[in-house]
Amino acid sequence: MKDLLSVTPAELEELILSVGEPKYRAGQMFPQLHKGLSPEEMTNVGKKTREKLAAVSEYHLPQVRRKLVSALDGTVKYLFELRDGHCVESVVMRYNHGNTICISSQVGCRMGCKFCASTIGGKVRDLIPGELLGQVIAAQKDLGERISNIVMMGIGEPLDNYDNVVKFLRLVAHPEGLNIGYRHISLSTCGVVSGIYKLAEEEFPITLSISLHAPDDETRSSIMPVNNRWGVDELLTACKDYYDKTGRRLSFEYTLIAGKNDTPEGASKLANVLNRHLRTRTTTMPIHVNLIPVNEVEETGFSRSSDEAVKAFAAVLEKRGIRATVRRKLGADINASCGQLRRAEQKAAEVTAETTGKTASEEA
Ligand code: SAH
Repeated sequence: MKDLLSVTPAELEELILSVGEPKYRAGQMFPQLHKGLSPEEMTNVGKKTREKLAAVSEYHLPQVRRKLVSALDGTVKYLFELRDGHCVESVVMRYNHGNTICISSQVGCRMGCKFCASTIGGKVRDLIPGELLGQVIAAQKDLGERISNIVMMGIGEPLDNYDNVVKFLRLVAHPEGLNIGYRHISLSTCGVVSGIYKLAEEEFPITLSISLHAPDDETRSSIMPVNNRWGVDELLTACKDYYDKTGRRLSFEYTLIAGKNDTPEGASKLANVLNRHLRTRTTTMPIHVNLIPVNEVEETGFSRSSDEAVKAFAAVLEKRGIRATVRRKLGADINASCGQLRRAEQKAAEVTAETTGKTASEEA
């Protein structure tokens, strides 16, 4: 059974031909699928064609299992249930320039960052292209508003699910589909260096964001296991290569954790290492660091840096010619940060499982 939200227009044509229908039907159906209509719901194609297609394919949109709306800023957080009962989170943020959705790329995550809620239960599975796209379509359908920007910063590591993510990028930008331009899409990675090199070879002018979080290997390895595979120098070399090849500048995320990576000396080290790699004789990339006071997750035991520490950290970077902005917190009242809602559901399932004697996966 083909997943109708994962197929390209050419693959849909093939499928239509395989059931003995004329191929132009694909052109009529592709935009409808991306509007959130299953074959049964389409009115522009005859019943016979729709039934033949339905017999060899499946159409699943993520179902809204929970929806929280922030009273402070209108941020909407969805817990979406996938076809197999697993859940992921998506968050829609309202800006003056339009709606931005933050989507998940995997069920869980295997990267093991010590401060992150998404990685606590490990990775369950990758999302397929139709499930990545489905988050955008389902949110748009639920809100009744267009979503114009996408950030891949939800649960999971997008470059650990490379092929599905790349196919999704092609689908979401398709003019007959959602038509969201690459310049309106950003992808965040914890530093999967092999994926950064591969991405530099693709024709996607998306924005790449690097979750750096520490200026040196010792600190970074202590909070991000991926750093044992690819260290800070290797990662920043890949960033330079990406910039040199594509001309697209990257941005850096830096989560500030009290007493761990938030000292003025840390800021100075960060400025040194960024400038050393990205402002060389041949490369002069404008550098921008997003500072994010860590969201406290019960299990991790890390706490946020004080406002003074954040300010002092930013001031050191600015002095060294690096733009630093402190991330505005949206949806503070709905726990909008990634992984936390799914984690809460998991915990609830664990409690129910304990009291009913079932395992958590049976509950899910
Ligand atoms: N795996 C990708 C994308 C998902 S995480 C990545 O690592 O970039 C999205 C961002 O949220 C990353 O910068 C991540 O480090 C950060 N993050 C995760 N847990 C956090 C927390 N508790 N507080 C603040 N930022 C967090």
